[in-house]
Amino acid sequence: MSEPDRAVVIGASVAGLLAAHALSGHFAEVVIVERDSLPREPEFRKGVPQSRHLHVLLVRGAEILEQFFPGITESLYAAGAQPIDWTRDVLYLGAAGWGTRFPRSLTLILSHRELLEWSIRQRVLGSPRIRAIEEHDVVDLLPSSDGIRGIRLRARPDGQVQELEARLVVDASGRNSKAPEWLAAHGYPPPRQTVINSFLGYASRQYAPPADLNVDWKALFLLPKAPKTTRSGGLFPIDGGRWMVTLAGAGRDYPPNDDAGFLEFARTLRSPILYEAIRTAEPLTPISAYRRTENQWRHFDRLQRWPQHFVALGDSVCAFNPIYGQGMTAAAESALVLDGWLSRAEPALAFQRRLGKMLAAPWLLATGEDFRFPTTEGGKPGLTTRLAHRYFDRLLEVGTVDETVSQAFLRVLHLLDPPAALFGPGILARAVRGPGRPLLSAPPTATPLGTAVGRPA
Ligand SMILES: Cc1cc2nc3c(=O)[nH]c(=O)nc-3n(C[C@H](O)[C@H](O)[C@H](O)COP(=O)(O)OP(=O)(O)OC[C@H]3O[C@@H](n4cnc5c(N)ncnc54)[C@H](O)[C@@H]3O)c2cc1C
Repeated sequence: MSEPDRAVVIGASVAGLLAAHALSGHFAEVVIVERDSLPREPEFRKGVPQSRHLHVLLVRGAEILEQFFPGITESLYAAGAQPIDWTRDVLYLGAAGWGTRFPRSLTLILSHRELLEWSIRQRVLGSPRIRAIEEHDVVDLLPSSDGIRGIRLRARPDGQVQELEARLVVDASGRNSKAPEWLAAHGYPPPRQTVINSFLGYASRQYAPPADLNVDWKALFLLPKAPKTTRSGGLFPIDGGRWMVTLAGAGRDYPPNDDAGFLEFARTLRSPILYEAIRTAEPLTPISAYRRTENQWRHFDRLQRWPQHFVALGDSVCAFNPIYGQGMTAAAESALVLDGWLSRAEPALAFQRRLGKMLAAPWLLATGEDFRFPTTEGGKPGLTTRLAHRYFDRLLEVGTVDETVSQAFLRVLHLLDPPAALFGPGILARAVRGPGRPLLSAPPTATPLGTAVGRPA
């Protein structure tokens, strides 16, 4: 019997959907198996509990989405997503102080995570080659003489178990993926796993902005000054004219999920401006909390033995501390790596190695910052990280007033340029020279909410 020209993807979240899109250029049929029923509208579903929290799509991620699905940016805007220019529209308090509002930097598309995922899903499932099997749990892989030949799945409604054969199985089932256990049961060695945990907790709530709001900014992003302070907060406009407000605390300084505690946590951020903004705003949702935020990398790329016809990507391989907003962009990059690998017809392990190379930069950025907190577990910052911290501190300071440095930093954080770009001669010279003028002592806004709040802690 000939092999079916079919690929199977486990999980229909962002990584699975984007992988399915890449696979559709190489297989006659792509089947995505998802345990949830997939909402027909942009709505919450249980399999993606993190969607209740702020999801920023980095600029590199938005670029890849537009490349995969031309016109998706415009349709997100048409559905209410908000464009924001990072230095013009955001009052940003970084470790070194308030950032200057330069007139133009990078434009981000802000929406609720549910709208973003739904928009991608509409396009992916609109392909004649891709279909979804909903309300089915993948419960095992099917072994073959040289690797994996398919999956075993169980229907949620009636518990019925069936098998689905495929020429390639892609695991995109997220942080709690069972892939290591399934592979071990079929005789493959488990991967080494690195976990770096800053014990960051999130609490989020949506608000209707006050009707009489008089501000000249669209978003607020307040970060801690590690290791002295641990608390951060973001207020971003999303579709539906709403604000998504996420508070976060590192080192187990978890934000509460009751009304008074949430507001009090906001008041104690390094600037009370976010508190002042939400104090009179109307809460539209309950407060949701989330604490599974550790950086977790399963090093499939370092294994010597790996089955043919099986690969893993997305959070299943590498999940980041979400505060740096990298997960969905790394998933989009992974789909590009998958596409390139399929064009080369290499062994499956070569995919994991290529993926590992791509993940190195976002991993370094996320874990490097987490190591600033002495409470972070999973290793200690080495000499390189400590030197990088000192250099980045200087750049952060200069970048609050120097447009070139600010732009270079943003491009690295948005995964448009590699971290090495910050060590080029132009940036180094600016770091040596220093800011050259006083840093801002108050948020750069003329409207009352800003002028009332004064210096940051
Ligand atoms: C609090 C929080 C905030 C975040 N903020 C951002 C942000 O600002 N920007 C950003 O880019 N990223 C952010 N992320 C990360 C982002 O959510 C993920 O990186 C992104 O969803 C890609 O993950 P994934 O598709 O690999 O896995 P997931 O999103 O976890 O999805 C896994 C999917 O697999 C399904 N599944 C699991 N097991 C099975 C099974 N056995 N059978 C069938 N289906 C299964 C699940 O139902 C789910 O649909 C955040 C994450 C968290 C936790």
